[in-house]
Amino acid sequence: MNETLTNKLELPASVTIRDLAQLTNTSPIQIIKVLMANGVMANINQQIDFDTAAVVCAEVGFEAILATSEEEKVSEVGEVPYWRQMIAGEDPAKLVNRPPVITILGHVDHGKTTLLDAIRHTEVAAGEAGGITQHIGAYQVEHHNRQITFLDTPGHAAFTAMRARGAQGADIVVLVVAANDGVMPQTREAIAHAKAARVPIIVAMNKIDLSEANPDLVKKQLADNGLIPDDWDGDTLVVPVSAKKKMGIDDLLEGILLVADASEIKANPDGEVVGSVIEAEIDKTRGVIATLLVQNGTLGVGDVVVAGESCGKIKAMFDFKGRKVQKAGPSFPVSVLGLTNVPEAGDLFMTAESDREAREKVATLHATRQSEAVSTKVTLEQLFERYKAGEVKELRLIVKADVQGSLAPIIKSLNDLSSGDIKINILYSETGNIGENDIMLASASTAVVVGFNVEADSNARRVAEAEGVSIRLYNIIYRLTEDVEKALKGMLEPEFKEVILGQAVVQAVFSAKRLGSVAGCKVVKGEFRRNGKIRVVRDGQVMHEGEIASLRHEKDDVQEVRTGFECGVGVRNFSDFKAGDMLECYTIEKQ
Ligand code: GDP
Repeated sequence: MNETLTNKLELPASVTIRDLAQLTNTSPIQIIKVLMANGVMANINQQIDFDTAAVVCAEVGFEAILATSEEEKVSEVGEVPYWRQMIAGEDPAKLVNRPPVITILGHVDHGKTTLLDAIRHTEVAAGEAGGITQHIGAYQVEHHNRQITFLDTPGHAAFTAMRARGAQGADIVVLVVAANDGVMPQTREAIAHAKAARVPIIVAMNKIDLSEANPDLVKKQLADNGLIPDDWDGDTLVVPVSAKKKMGIDDLLEGILLVADASEIKANPDGEVVGSVIEAEIDKTRGVIATLLVQNGTLGVGDVVVAGESCGKIKAMFDFKGRKVQKAGPSFPVSVLGLTNVPEAGDLFMTAESDREAREKVATLHATRQSEAVSTKVTLEQLFERYKAGEVKELRLIVKADVQGSLAPIIKSLNDLSSGDIKINILYSETGNIGENDIMLASASTAVVVGFNVEADSNARRVAEAEGVSIRLYNIIYRLTEDVEKALKGMLEPEFKEVILGQAVVQAVFSAKRLGSVAGCKVVKGEFRRNGKIRVVRDGQVMHEGEIASLRHEKDDVQEVRTGFECGVGVRNFSDFKAGDMLECYTIEKQ
Protein backbone atom coordinates (compact mmCIF):
# COMPACT_ATOMS: atom_id res chain seq x y z
CA MET A 1 0.00 0.00 0.00
CA ASN A 2 1.15 3.50 -0.74
CA GLU A 3 2.59 4.98 2.47
CA THR A 4 1.57 8.58 1.79
CA LEU A 5 -1.98 7.55 0.92
CA THR A 6 -2.51 5.86 4.28
CA ASN A 7 -1.55 9.10 6.02
CA LYS A 8 -4.13 11.23 4.25
CA LEU A 9 -6.91 12.48 6.44
CA GLU A 10 -10.17 14.01 5.28
CA LEU A 11 -11.24 16.89 7.50
CA PRO A 12 -14.29 19.16 7.50
CA ALA A 13 -13.99 22.96 7.27
CA SER A 14 -13.59 23.14 11.02
CA VAL A 15 -12.88 20.59 13.70
CA THR A 16 -12.51 20.57 17.46
CA ILE A 17 -9.19 19.71 19.04
CA ARG A 18 -10.84 16.81 20.82
CA ASP A 19 -12.02 15.35 17.50
CA LEU A 20 -8.74 16.06 15.72
CA ALA A 21 -6.90 14.21 18.48
CA GLN A 22 -9.10 11.20 17.95
CA LEU A 23 -8.80 11.29 14.19
CA THR A 24 -5.03 11.51 14.29
CA ASN A 25 -4.60 9.09 17.20
CA THR A 26 -2.78 11.80 19.09
CA SER A 27 -3.35 13.06 22.60
CA PRO A 28 -5.21 16.39 22.84
CA ILE A 29 -2.36 17.76 24.94
CA GLN A 30 0.04 17.01 22.08
CA ILE A 31 -2.19 18.95 19.68
CA ILE A 32 -2.53 21.87 22.07
CA LYS A 33 1.27 21.93 22.36
CA VAL A 34 1.70 22.02 18.57
CA LEU A 35 -0.81 24.87 18.39
CA MET A 36 0.95 26.75 21.18
CA ALA A 37 4.24 26.35 19.36
CA ASN A 38 2.52 28.00 16.40
CA GLY A 39 1.19 30.82 18.51
CA VAL A 40 -2.40 29.57 18.78
CA MET A 41 -3.91 29.22 22.24
CA ALA A 42 -6.84 26.84 22.12
CA ASN A 43 -8.66 24.53 24.43
CA ILE A 44 -9.80 21.01 23.83
CA ASN A 45 -13.35 21.92 22.81
CA GLN A 46 -12.38 24.75 20.55
CA GLN A 47 -12.95 24.62 16.81
CA ILE A 48 -9.98 25.26 14.59
CA ASP A 49 -10.28 25.89 10.89
CA PHE A 50 -9.09 23.55 8.20
CA ASP A 51 -5.89 25.47 7.47
CA THR A 52 -4.81 25.43 11.10
CA ALA A 53 -5.79 21.78 11.42
CA ALA A 54 -3.70 21.02 8.33
CA VAL A 55 -0.61 22.50 9.98
CA VAL A 56 -1.20 20.39 13.07
CA CYS A 57 -1.80 17.31 10.93
CA ALA A 58 1.51 17.83 9.16
CA GLU A 59 3.26 17.92 12.54
CA VAL A 60 1.73 14.65 13.63
CA GLY A 61 2.28 12.82 10.36
CA PHE A 62 -0.92 13.31 8.38
CA GLU A 63 -1.77 15.10 5.18
CA ALA A 64 -5.08 16.91 5.66
CA ILE A 65 -7.54 17.01 2.77
CA LEU A 66 -10.63 19.16 2.87
CA ALA A 67 -13.67 16.88 2.84
CA THR A 68 -15.71 17.51 -0.27
CA SER A 69 -19.01 16.26 1.10
CA GLU A 70 -20.88 18.37 3.59
CA GLU A 71 -21.40 15.32 5.72
CA GLU A 72 -19.90 15.77 9.12
CA LYS A 73 -17.62 12.89 9.72
CA VAL A 74 -16.63 13.75 13.24
CA SER A 75 -19.87 14.91 14.75
CA GLU A 76 -20.77 11.91 16.82
CA VAL A 77 -17.69 11.59 18.91
CA GLY A 78 -19.80 12.28 21.97
CA GLU A 79 -18.49 12.24 25.45
CA VAL A 80 -15.46 10.03 25.15
CA PRO A 81 -13.57 9.67 28.40
CA TYR A 82 -10.51 11.85 28.49
CA TRP A 83 -8.14 9.02 29.31
CA ARG A 84 -9.54 6.97 26.46
CA GLN A 85 -8.43 9.74 24.16
CA MET A 86 -5.07 9.61 25.85
CA ILE A 87 -4.71 5.96 24.91
CA ALA A 88 -5.87 6.78 21.41
CA GLY A 89 -2.23 7.59 20.75
CA GLU A 90 -1.17 4.07 21.74
CA ASP A 91 -0.32 1.40 19.22
CA PRO A 92 -3.47 -0.79 19.01
CA ALA A 93 -1.27 -3.89 18.89
CA LYS A 94 0.05 -3.06 22.34
CA LEU A 95 -3.34 -2.62 23.99
CA VAL A 96 -4.30 -5.35 26.43
CA ASN A 97 -7.39 -5.90 28.56
CA ARG A 98 -7.20 -4.25 31.95
CA PRO A 99 -9.40 -4.89 35.00
CA PRO A 100 -12.72 -3.03 34.83
CA VAL A 101 -13.15 -0.17 37.31
CA ILE A 102 -16.50 -0.25 39.06
CA THR A 103 -18.37 2.39 40.98
CA ILE A 104 -21.45 1.74 43.04
CA LEU A 105 -24.35 4.17 42.86
CA GLY A 106 -27.90 4.11 44.17
CA HIS A 107 -30.45 5.58 46.54
CA VAL A 108 -29.51 6.16 50.15
CA ASP A 109 -29.96 3.12 52.40
CA HIS A 110 -30.37 0.73 49.50
CA GLY A 111 -27.17 -1.00 50.61
CA LYS A 112 -24.20 0.45 48.70
CA THR A 113 -21.82 0.40 51.65
CA THR A 114 -22.95 -3.04 52.77
CA LEU A 115 -22.48 -4.39 49.25
CA LEU A 116 -18.97 -2.93 48.97
CA ASP A 117 -18.10 -4.54 52.29
CA ALA A 118 -19.65 -7.84 51.29
CA ILE A 119 -17.63 -7.94 48.07
CA ARG A 120 -14.45 -6.95 49.84
CA HIS A 121 -14.85 -9.56 52.53
CA THR A 122 -15.99 -12.52 50.52
CA GLU A 123 -13.38 -12.06 47.85
CA VAL A 124 -10.46 -10.24 49.36
CA ALA A 125 -10.28 -11.82 52.75
CA ALA A 126 -10.78 -15.35 51.51
CA GLY A 127 -7.70 -17.38 52.37
CA GLU A 128 -5.76 -14.45 53.73
CA ALA A 129 -4.59 -14.25 57.28
CA GLY A 130 -6.48 -11.46 58.93
CA GLY A 131 -7.60 -10.07 55.60
CA ILE A 132 -7.06 -6.56 56.82
CA THR A 133 -7.49 -3.98 54.14
CA GLN A 134 -6.60 -0.33 54.29
CA HIS A 135 -9.04 2.27 53.19
CA ILE A 136 -7.44 3.99 50.24
CA GLY A 137 -10.61 4.75 48.27
CA ALA A 138 -10.38 1.73 46.02
CA TYR A 139 -9.74 -1.99 46.24
CA GLN A 140 -9.39 -4.97 43.96
CA VAL A 141 -10.97 -8.41 44.08
CA GLU A 142 -10.18 -11.52 42.11
CA HIS A 143 -12.87 -13.57 40.46
CA HIS A 144 -12.07 -16.52 38.18
CA ASN A 145 -8.48 -15.36 38.15
CA ARG A 146 -9.46 -11.94 36.87
CA GLN A 147 -9.12 -8.70 38.77
CA ILE A 148 -11.96 -6.21 39.28
CA THR A 149 -11.28 -2.77 40.76
CA PHE A 150 -13.92 -1.15 42.97
CA LEU A 151 -13.98 2.50 43.90
CA ASP A 152 -15.14 2.40 47.47
CA THR A 153 -16.56 5.83 47.99
CA PRO A 154 -20.08 5.09 46.89
CA GLY A 155 -22.37 7.81 45.72
CA HIS A 156 -22.70 10.33 42.99
CA ALA A 157 -20.45 12.95 44.49
CA ALA A 158 -17.21 11.08 43.80
CA PHE A 159 -18.35 9.91 40.39
CA THR A 160 -19.44 13.36 39.30
CA ALA A 161 -16.38 15.06 40.75
CA MET A 162 -14.29 12.90 38.47
CA ARG A 163 -16.45 13.57 35.46
CA ALA A 164 -16.53 17.29 36.20
CA ARG A 165 -12.73 17.27 35.97
CA GLY A 166 -12.73 15.41 32.70
CA ALA A 167 -11.70 12.03 34.04
CA GLN A 168 -13.88 9.02 33.75
CA GLY A 169 -15.32 7.90 37.07
CA ALA A 170 -15.51 4.25 36.21
CA ASP A 171 -15.92 1.75 33.39
CA ILE A 172 -19.10 0.20 34.77
CA VAL A 173 -21.73 1.45 37.21
CA VAL A 174 -23.31 -1.03 39.61
CA LEU A 175 -26.67 0.44 40.47
CA VAL A 176 -27.95 -0.79 43.82
CA VAL A 177 -31.74 -0.89 44.04
CA ALA A 178 -33.39 -2.27 47.17
CA ALA A 179 -35.94 -4.88 46.14
CA ASN A 180 -38.32 -3.73 48.87
CA ASP A 181 -38.13 -0.04 48.01
CA GLY A 182 -37.68 0.08 44.25
CA VAL A 183 -36.55 2.92 42.03
CA MET A 184 -36.25 6.13 44.07
CA PRO A 185 -35.14 9.70 43.20
CA GLN A 186 -31.43 9.03 43.67
CA THR A 187 -31.76 5.84 41.62
CA ARG A 188 -33.06 7.94 38.75
CA GLU A 189 -30.31 10.47 39.35
CA ALA A 190 -27.72 7.69 39.20
CA ILE A 191 -29.20 6.43 35.92
CA ALA A 192 -28.94 9.96 34.54
CA HIS A 193 -25.30 10.21 35.63
CA ALA A 194 -24.35 6.90 34.10
CA LYS A 195 -26.19 7.62 30.87
CA ALA A 196 -24.68 11.07 30.52
CA ALA A 197 -21.25 9.50 30.98
CA ARG A 198 -22.15 6.64 28.61
CA VAL A 199 -21.10 4.08 31.18
CA PRO A 200 -22.86 0.69 31.16
CA ILE A 201 -25.07 -0.11 34.14
CA ILE A 202 -25.55 -3.41 35.96
CA VAL A 203 -28.36 -3.49 38.50
CA ALA A 204 -27.71 -5.19 41.83
CA MET A 205 -31.22 -5.82 43.13
CA ASN A 206 -30.42 -5.84 46.80
CA LYS A 207 -32.21 -6.95 50.00
CA ILE A 208 -33.68 -9.90 48.16
CA ASP A 209 -33.70 -11.70 51.54
CA LEU A 210 -36.56 -9.52 52.79
CA SER A 211 -40.07 -10.90 52.61
CA GLU A 212 -41.31 -7.55 51.24
CA ALA A 213 -38.92 -7.83 48.29
CA ASN A 214 -40.83 -7.39 45.05
CA PRO A 215 -38.45 -8.13 42.16
CA ASP A 216 -41.08 -7.91 39.44
CA LEU A 217 -42.20 -4.47 40.49
CA VAL A 218 -38.58 -3.27 40.61
CA LYS A 219 -37.95 -4.67 37.12
CA LYS A 220 -40.98 -2.85 35.83
CA GLN A 221 -39.76 0.39 37.40
CA LEU A 222 -36.31 -0.15 35.89
CA ALA A 223 -37.88 -0.74 32.48
CA ASP A 224 -39.89 2.47 32.90
CA ASN A 225 -36.59 4.24 33.40
CA GLY A 226 -35.01 2.86 30.28
CA LEU A 227 -33.20 -0.11 31.84
CA ILE A 228 -34.92 -3.15 30.34
CA PRO A 229 -33.88 -6.24 32.33
CA ASP A 230 -32.09 -8.99 30.42
CA ASP A 231 -34.73 -11.59 31.25
CA TRP A 232 -37.27 -9.26 29.66
CA ASP A 233 -35.22 -9.30 26.47
CA GLY A 234 -33.47 -6.05 27.33
CA ASP A 235 -29.77 -5.49 27.72
CA THR A 236 -29.49 -4.51 31.39
CA LEU A 237 -28.24 -7.26 33.66
CA VAL A 238 -30.29 -7.36 36.85
CA VAL A 239 -28.64 -9.51 39.51
CA PRO A 240 -30.58 -10.37 42.68
CA VAL A 241 -28.31 -10.04 45.71
CA SER A 242 -28.41 -9.76 49.45
CA ALA A 243 -25.45 -7.74 50.62
CA LYS A 244 -26.34 -8.49 54.22
CA LYS A 245 -26.54 -12.25 53.77
CA LYS A 246 -23.73 -12.26 51.17
CA MET A 247 -25.97 -13.92 48.61
CA GLY A 248 -25.57 -13.45 44.87
CA ILE A 249 -22.15 -11.75 45.12
CA ASP A 250 -20.54 -14.31 42.80
CA ASP A 251 -23.28 -13.76 40.22
CA LEU A 252 -22.75 -10.02 40.43
CA LEU A 253 -18.99 -10.36 39.83
CA GLU A 254 -19.73 -12.75 36.99
CA GLY A 255 -22.08 -10.15 35.51
CA ILE A 256 -19.45 -7.44 35.85
CA LEU A 257 -16.94 -9.52 33.92
CA LEU A 258 -19.54 -10.22 31.22
CA VAL A 259 -20.28 -6.53 30.78
CA ALA A 260 -16.55 -5.75 30.87
CA ASP A 261 -15.98 -8.23 28.06
CA ALA A 262 -18.61 -6.48 26.00
CA SER A 263 -16.88 -3.10 26.43
CA GLU A 264 -13.42 -2.15 25.27
CA ILE A 265 -11.57 -1.86 28.55
CA LYS A 266 -7.99 -1.74 27.41
CA ALA A 267 -4.70 -0.05 28.08
CA ASN A 268 -1.06 -0.24 27.11
CA PRO A 269 0.95 -1.16 30.23
CA ASP A 270 4.11 0.11 28.50
CA GLY A 271 2.56 3.33 27.25
CA GLU A 272 2.32 6.88 28.54
CA VAL A 273 1.33 6.89 32.21
CA VAL A 274 -2.08 8.47 32.71
CA GLY A 275 -4.65 8.04 35.45
CA SER A 276 -6.85 9.81 37.93
CA VAL A 277 -6.69 10.78 41.55
CA ILE A 278 -9.17 8.85 43.69
CA GLU A 279 -8.58 10.75 46.90
CA ALA A 280 -5.81 12.66 48.63
CA GLU A 281 -5.07 14.01 52.06
CA ILE A 282 -2.28 15.33 54.24
CA ASP A 283 -0.87 13.08 56.93
CA LYS A 284 0.93 14.81 59.78
CA THR A 285 3.96 12.55 59.64
CA ARG A 286 4.08 11.29 56.07
CA GLY A 287 3.00 14.38 54.13
CA VAL A 288 0.66 14.16 51.14
CA ILE A 289 -0.88 10.73 50.59
CA ALA A 290 -2.76 10.36 47.32
CA THR A 291 -4.58 7.35 45.95
CA LEU A 292 -3.96 7.12 42.25
CA LEU A 293 -5.72 4.84 39.80
CA VAL A 294 -3.49 4.08 36.87
CA GLN A 295 -5.42 4.00 33.61
CA ASN A 296 -2.63 3.58 31.11
CA GLY A 297 1.06 2.75 31.37
CA THR A 298 2.82 1.56 34.52
CA LEU A 299 3.61 3.84 37.41
CA GLY A 300 6.78 3.17 39.38
CA VAL A 301 8.52 4.37 42.53
CA GLY A 302 10.88 7.20 41.57
CA ASP A 303 8.62 8.48 38.79
CA VAL A 304 8.00 12.20 38.62
CA VAL A 305 4.25 12.66 38.69
CA VAL A 306 2.02 15.58 37.81
CA ALA A 307 -1.36 15.25 39.46
CA GLY A 308 -3.78 18.04 38.74
CA GLU A 309 -1.96 21.10 39.87
CA SER A 310 0.50 19.34 42.13
CA CYS A 311 3.62 17.39 41.30
CA GLY A 312 6.44 15.44 42.92
CA LYS A 313 8.63 12.36 42.80
CA ILE A 314 7.06 9.15 44.11
CA LYS A 315 8.89 8.09 47.25
CA ALA A 316 6.82 5.02 48.05
CA MET A 317 3.71 3.23 46.85
CA PHE A 318 1.30 0.94 48.70
CA ASP A 319 -1.54 -1.26 47.53
CA PHE A 320 -4.94 -1.35 49.25
CA LYS A 321 -3.65 -3.96 51.66
CA GLY A 322 -0.97 -1.57 52.80
CA ARG A 323 1.81 -3.60 51.15
CA LYS A 324 4.72 -1.75 49.59
CA VAL A 325 4.76 -2.07 45.80
CA GLN A 326 7.28 -0.90 43.25
CA LYS A 327 5.02 -0.77 40.21
CA ALA A 328 1.34 -0.24 39.44
CA GLY A 329 -0.14 -1.14 36.06
CA PRO A 330 -3.50 -0.19 34.48
CA SER A 331 -6.56 -0.22 36.81
CA PHE A 332 -4.28 -0.74 39.79
CA PRO A 333 -5.04 1.62 42.68
CA VAL A 334 -2.08 2.68 44.81
CA SER A 335 -1.57 5.20 47.55
CA VAL A 336 1.58 7.18 46.93
CA LEU A 337 3.87 9.40 48.97
CA GLY A 338 5.91 12.22 47.52
CA LEU A 339 3.53 14.77 46.03
CA THR A 340 4.22 18.32 47.12
CA ASN A 341 0.61 19.38 47.62
CA VAL A 342 -2.82 17.79 47.73
CA PRO A 343 -4.44 17.18 44.33
CA GLU A 344 -8.23 17.03 44.06
CA ALA A 345 -10.25 13.85 43.69
CA GLY A 346 -10.84 13.37 39.99
CA ASP A 347 -7.69 15.19 38.91
CA LEU A 348 -5.79 13.58 36.09
CA PHE A 349 -2.22 12.57 36.66
CA MET A 350 0.62 11.70 34.33
CA THR A 351 4.34 11.19 34.58
CA ALA A 352 7.06 13.49 33.35
CA GLU A 353 10.73 13.03 32.49
CA SER A 354 11.95 15.68 34.88
CA ASP A 355 10.82 18.13 37.51
CA ARG A 356 10.92 20.86 34.91
CA GLU A 357 8.77 18.97 32.43
CA ALA A 358 6.40 18.12 35.28
CA ARG A 359 6.00 21.78 36.11
CA GLU A 360 5.41 22.61 32.44
CA LYS A 361 2.79 19.90 32.18
CA VAL A 362 1.08 21.27 35.27
CA ALA A 363 1.05 24.72 33.74
CA THR A 364 -0.37 23.45 30.43
CA LEU A 365 -2.98 21.37 32.22
CA HIS A 366 -3.87 24.31 34.38
CA ALA A 367 -4.32 26.57 31.38
CA THR A 368 -6.28 23.96 29.43
CA ARG A 369 -8.50 23.27 32.37
CA GLN A 370 -9.22 26.90 33.02
CA SER A 371 -10.18 27.65 29.47
CA GLU A 372 -12.04 24.37 29.24
CA ALA A 373 -13.94 25.12 32.43
CA VAL A 374 -15.12 28.35 30.92
CA SER A 375 -15.79 27.01 27.49
CA THR A 376 -17.63 23.83 28.39
CA LYS A 377 -20.32 25.70 30.27
CA VAL A 378 -23.31 26.70 28.26
CA THR A 379 -25.91 29.22 29.28
CA LEU A 380 -29.23 29.55 27.52
CA GLU A 381 -28.18 33.00 26.33
CA GLN A 382 -25.01 31.73 24.70
CA LEU A 383 -26.55 28.58 23.35
CA PHE A 384 -27.31 29.78 19.87
CA GLU A 385 -23.94 31.45 19.37
CA ARG A 386 -22.21 28.31 20.48
CA TYR A 387 -24.41 26.21 18.27
CA LYS A 388 -23.49 28.38 15.30
CA ALA A 389 -19.83 28.01 16.21
CA GLY A 390 -20.32 24.26 16.15
CA GLU A 391 -19.56 23.89 19.84
CA VAL A 392 -22.90 22.44 20.89
CA LYS A 393 -25.16 20.05 19.08
CA GLU A 394 -27.73 19.45 21.75
CA LEU A 395 -29.13 21.39 24.66
CA ARG A 396 -28.85 19.31 27.78
CA LEU A 397 -31.30 20.12 30.52
CA ILE A 398 -31.92 19.08 34.09
CA VAL A 399 -35.51 19.82 34.95
CA LYS A 400 -36.81 20.18 38.50
CA ALA A 401 -40.44 20.97 39.32
CA ASP A 402 -42.58 21.18 42.43
CA VAL A 403 -44.95 18.35 41.59
CA GLN A 404 -45.18 15.47 39.14
CA GLY A 405 -48.28 17.10 37.67
CA SER A 406 -46.24 20.01 36.35
CA LEU A 407 -43.13 18.01 35.50
CA ALA A 408 -44.90 15.80 32.95
CA PRO A 409 -46.30 18.62 30.76
CA ILE A 410 -42.99 20.53 30.95
CA ILE A 411 -41.07 17.51 29.73
CA LYS A 412 -43.59 16.91 26.99
CA SER A 413 -43.49 20.47 25.70
CA LEU A 414 -39.69 20.56 25.89
CA ASN A 415 -39.48 17.34 23.92
CA ASP A 416 -41.89 18.80 21.37
CA LEU A 417 -39.45 21.68 20.82
CA SER A 418 -36.72 19.25 20.00
CA SER A 419 -37.60 18.94 16.33
CA GLY A 420 -35.24 21.58 14.94
CA ASP A 421 -31.50 21.41 14.38
CA ILE A 422 -30.58 21.51 18.04
CA LYS A 423 -31.84 18.55 20.00
CA ILE A 424 -33.05 18.86 23.56
CA ASN A 425 -31.72 16.14 25.79
CA ILE A 426 -33.33 16.01 29.23
CA LEU A 427 -30.67 14.30 31.30
CA TYR A 428 -32.65 14.19 34.49
CA SER A 429 -36.03 15.33 35.72
CA GLU A 430 -37.39 15.10 39.20
CA THR A 431 -39.64 16.82 41.67
CA GLY A 432 -38.07 18.86 44.46
CA ASN A 433 -35.80 21.84 44.95
CA ILE A 434 -32.57 22.24 43.03
CA GLY A 435 -29.73 20.76 45.07
CA GLU A 436 -25.97 20.43 44.83
CA ASN A 437 -26.23 17.05 43.07
CA ASP A 438 -28.25 18.58 40.26
CA ILE A 439 -25.57 21.21 39.79
CA MET A 440 -22.77 18.64 39.80
CA LEU A 441 -24.59 16.57 37.19
CA ALA A 442 -25.11 19.73 35.12
CA SER A 443 -21.48 20.72 35.48
CA ALA A 444 -20.16 17.32 34.51
CA SER A 445 -22.52 17.09 31.56
CA THR A 446 -22.55 20.69 30.30
CA ALA A 447 -26.22 21.10 31.08
CA VAL A 448 -28.47 23.98 32.09
CA VAL A 449 -30.71 23.54 35.14
CA VAL A 450 -34.30 24.74 34.83
CA GLY A 451 -36.69 24.86 37.75
CA PHE A 452 -40.44 25.30 37.84
CA ASN A 453 -42.00 26.51 41.11
CA VAL A 454 -38.90 25.40 42.99
CA GLU A 455 -35.92 27.10 44.56
CA ALA A 456 -32.22 26.45 44.38
CA ASP A 457 -30.86 25.86 47.87
CA SER A 458 -27.92 27.96 49.02
CA ASN A 459 -25.40 25.15 48.55
CA ALA A 460 -26.62 24.62 45.03
CA ARG A 461 -26.25 28.32 44.29
CA ARG A 462 -22.73 28.39 45.67
CA VAL A 463 -21.66 25.35 43.66
CA ALA A 464 -23.39 26.71 40.55
CA GLU A 465 -21.44 29.91 40.89
CA ALA A 466 -18.16 28.07 41.33
CA GLU A 467 -18.80 25.62 38.50
CA GLY A 468 -20.31 28.18 36.13
CA VAL A 469 -23.60 26.31 35.87
CA SER A 470 -26.63 28.28 34.80
CA ILE A 471 -29.87 27.94 36.79
CA ARG A 472 -33.15 29.30 35.41
CA LEU A 473 -36.22 29.51 37.60
CA TYR A 474 -39.79 29.91 36.36
CA ASN A 475 -43.29 29.92 37.74
CA ILE A 476 -45.22 29.92 34.51
CA ILE A 477 -44.79 26.86 32.30
CA TYR A 478 -45.06 28.66 29.00
CA ARG A 479 -42.38 31.15 30.05
CA LEU A 480 -40.03 28.24 30.60
CA THR A 481 -40.70 26.57 27.27
CA GLU A 482 -40.77 29.96 25.53
CA ASP A 483 -37.30 30.82 26.84
CA VAL A 484 -35.89 27.49 25.75
CA GLU A 485 -37.49 27.91 22.34
CA LYS A 486 -36.10 31.42 22.00
CA ALA A 487 -32.66 30.17 23.02
CA LEU A 488 -32.83 27.50 20.33
CA LYS A 489 -33.63 30.17 17.76
CA GLY A 490 -31.05 32.62 19.04
CA MET A 491 -33.70 35.13 20.11
CA LEU A 492 -33.30 35.07 23.86
CA GLU A 493 -32.38 38.40 25.38
CA PRO A 494 -29.89 38.11 28.19
CA GLU A 495 -31.48 38.60 31.58
CA PHE A 496 -30.33 41.53 33.65
CA LYS A 497 -30.85 42.18 37.29
CA GLU A 498 -30.38 45.18 39.47
CA VAL A 499 -27.94 45.00 42.35
CA ILE A 500 -28.26 47.72 45.01
CA LEU A 501 -24.79 48.88 46.05
CA GLY A 502 -25.72 51.35 48.75
CA GLN A 503 -28.16 53.85 50.20
CA ALA A 504 -27.61 57.39 51.40
CA VAL A 505 -29.83 59.98 53.07
CA VAL A 506 -29.80 63.55 51.82
CA GLN A 507 -28.94 65.90 54.71
CA ALA A 508 -28.59 69.20 52.90
CA VAL A 509 -28.79 70.59 49.39
CA PHE A 510 -26.09 72.85 47.97
CA SER A 511 -26.18 74.81 44.80
CA ALA A 512 -23.55 73.96 42.25
CA LYS A 513 -22.52 75.83 39.14
CA ARG A 514 -22.71 73.21 36.47
CA LEU A 515 -25.27 70.79 37.95
CA GLY A 516 -27.69 73.21 39.54
CA SER A 517 -27.56 71.48 42.89
CA VAL A 518 -25.69 68.75 44.71
CA ALA A 519 -27.03 66.56 47.52
CA GLY A 520 -24.95 66.51 50.70
CA CYS A 521 -25.63 63.04 52.09
CA LYS A 522 -24.49 60.33 54.42
CA VAL A 523 -24.09 56.75 53.20
CA VAL A 524 -26.17 54.62 55.55
CA LYS A 525 -25.78 51.24 53.88
CA GLY A 526 -23.31 49.63 51.46
CA GLU A 527 -21.33 52.05 49.34
CA PHE A 528 -21.72 54.62 46.61
CA ARG A 529 -19.70 54.17 43.45
CA ARG A 530 -18.92 56.85 40.94
CA ASN A 531 -19.76 54.54 38.04
CA GLY A 532 -23.01 53.30 39.62
CA LYS A 533 -26.50 54.31 38.63
CA ILE A 534 -28.65 56.39 40.94
CA ARG A 535 -32.27 56.55 42.03
CA VAL A 536 -33.81 59.38 44.05
CA VAL A 537 -36.63 58.20 46.31
CA ARG A 538 -38.90 60.55 48.25
CA ASP A 539 -41.56 59.16 50.62
CA GLY A 540 -41.38 55.81 48.85
CA GLN A 541 -41.86 57.39 45.39
CA VAL A 542 -39.13 57.25 42.76
CA MET A 543 -38.46 60.86 41.73
CA HIS A 544 -35.67 60.19 39.28
CA GLU A 545 -33.45 57.44 37.92
CA GLY A 546 -30.24 58.22 36.12
CA GLU A 547 -26.49 58.59 36.27
CA ILE A 548 -24.16 59.97 38.89
CA ALA A 549 -22.53 63.14 37.55
CA SER A 550 -20.17 63.74 40.44
CA LEU A 551 -19.17 62.03 43.67
CA ARG A 552 -17.15 63.94 46.22
CA HIS A 553 -15.88 63.31 49.68
CA GLU A 554 -14.96 66.56 51.37
CA LYS A 555 -13.44 68.50 48.45
CA ASP A 556 -12.10 65.52 46.50
CA ASP A 557 -13.57 63.64 43.57
CA VAL A 558 -13.69 60.01 44.64
CA GLN A 559 -14.54 56.64 43.11
CA GLU A 560 -16.40 55.28 46.11
CA VAL A 561 -17.78 56.26 49.50
CA ARG A 562 -18.43 53.72 52.23
CA THR A 563 -21.10 53.38 54.93
CA GLY A 564 -20.90 56.04 57.63
CA PHE A 565 -19.15 58.64 55.44
CA GLU A 566 -20.55 61.85 54.08
CA CYS A 567 -20.43 62.77 50.43
CA GLY A 568 -21.70 65.15 47.83
CA VAL A 569 -23.68 63.56 45.02
CA GLY A 570 -24.51 65.28 41.76
CA VAL A 571 -27.00 63.63 39.44
CA ARG A 572 -27.10 64.19 35.69
CA ASN A 573 -30.28 66.02 34.62
CA PHE A 574 -31.65 66.27 38.14
CA SER A 575 -31.29 68.99 40.76
CA ASP A 576 -34.54 69.02 42.72
CA PHE A 577 -33.17 67.31 45.88
CA LYS A 578 -34.80 67.73 49.27
CA ALA A 579 -33.36 66.95 52.67
CA GLY A 580 -34.63 63.53 53.76
CA ASP A 581 -34.58 62.07 50.20
CA MET A 582 -33.16 58.58 49.98
CA LEU A 583 -30.58 57.97 47.26
CA GLU A 584 -29.94 54.46 46.02
CA CYS A 585 -26.80 53.57 44.13
CA TYR A 586 -27.12 50.44 41.97
CA THR A 587 -25.68 48.55 39.02
CA ILE A 588 -27.23 46.32 36.41
CA GLU A 589 -25.65 42.92 36.12
CA LYS A 590 -26.17 40.19 33.59
CA GLN A 591 -27.59 37.12 35.29
P1 GDP B 1 -26.18 2.92 51.64
O1 GDP B 1 -26.74 4.17 52.21
O2 GDP B 1 -26.73 2.66 50.26
O3 GDP B 1 -24.70 2.81 51.69
O4 GDP B 1 -26.81 1.72 52.50
P2 GDP B 1 -26.14 0.84 53.65
O5 GDP B 1 -25.16 -0.13 53.07
O6 GDP B 1 -25.66 1.72 54.73
O7 GDP B 1 -27.39 -0.01 54.13
C1 GDP B 1 -28.55 0.58 54.65
C2 GDP B 1 -29.28 -0.40 55.56
O8 GDP B 1 -29.75 -1.49 54.78
C3 GDP B 1 -28.38 -0.97 56.64
O9 GDP B 1 -29.15 -1.06 57.81
C4 GDP B 1 -28.03 -2.35 56.12
O10 GDP B 1 -27.79 -3.27 57.16
C5 GDP B 1 -29.29 -2.72 55.36
N1 GDP B 1 -29.01 -3.67 54.27
C6 GDP B 1 -28.05 -3.54 53.33
N2 GDP B 1 -28.09 -4.61 52.50
C7 GDP B 1 -29.09 -5.41 52.94
C8 GDP B 1 -29.62 -6.67 52.49
O11 GDP B 1 -29.18 -7.27 51.52
N3 GDP B 1 -30.67 -7.16 53.20
C9 GDP B 1 -31.20 -6.53 54.28
N4 GDP B 1 -32.21 -7.11 54.89
N5 GDP B 1 -30.72 -5.36 54.73
C10 GDP B 1 -29.68 -4.81 54.07
